[in-house]
Amino acid sequence: MSGKRQVYIGTDSGATSSKTGGVWEDGTTISTKLAQQPTNSEAGTTAVVRGWVEGVNEYLIRNDLKWDQVQGVGLAMPGPYKRYGVIGRSPNLPANFEGWDFYTAYSSALSERAGRAVPLMVGNDGNYGGVAEAQHARGKSKSSVVMLAPGSGLGTAYIDSRGLPLDGDTLNGMEAGHMPAPLHLLDTKAYPCGCGRTWGCIEVYTTISGLPYLLTEKLARYPDHELAKSPLSAKEKALSLRGLAQKR
Ligand SMILES: [Zn+2]
Repeated sequence: MSGKRQVYIGTDSGATSSKTGGVWEDGTTISTKLAQQPTNSEAGTTAVVRGWVEGVNEYLIRNDLKWDQVQGVGLAMPGPYKRYGVIGRSPNLPANFEGWDFYTAYSSALSERAGRAVPLMVGNDGNYGGVAEAQHARGKSKSSVVMLAPGSGLGTAYIDSRGLPLDGDTLNGMEAGHMPAPLHLLDTKAYPCGCGRTWGCIEVYTTISGLPYLLTEKLARYPDHELAKSPLSAKEKALSLRGLAQKR
């Protein structure tokens, strides 16, 4: 039942995999079954863009849609940004991605594939996720919403009363995970972060990224713990914690 209805497609570029979804022109979801591809960042920026376009293509085919129905594409991409559509030093992407104009790269690739210009919007993945979550969190009220989404890193967003995310003049308004944590209150020291900062980023104390440091320090006090004697790397030990906790 696709007919000639117009659609808008969204690409979510994650650290390890990229997902594609879409909505009809009235904003209703086409299908919640997302197309998913490896982001392939270790193969370079061209491979990443190819994966995004393939994701759109796969999603269209699965839902019996054609490229000429695509009226616009949105891309959610982790920050920080140097300027609109240009990535800075991102903790979960290769260092040589710094300064990459992913807006122009994706825009060109989409136009080439569609045979015409395709409008593209890009923005911070935390902000875009926050816009959607805020709708659930506040219902019909006008309250503002703060989202904290811990995973590999810490996705954060502030959504105002209009339902729009805080970007700030620098587009890094809610890169809150890389602000310094109050170390004197946490009784801990400054661990290095994937972003390159060594002042003790909040992300390191709230997500998987900092667990290896915390665990190594704590295990020194418990020499008889099974992990203290384990030959695994600090990161592998940290990833085994959930399994151990579930056994208790
Ligand atoms: Zn950081």
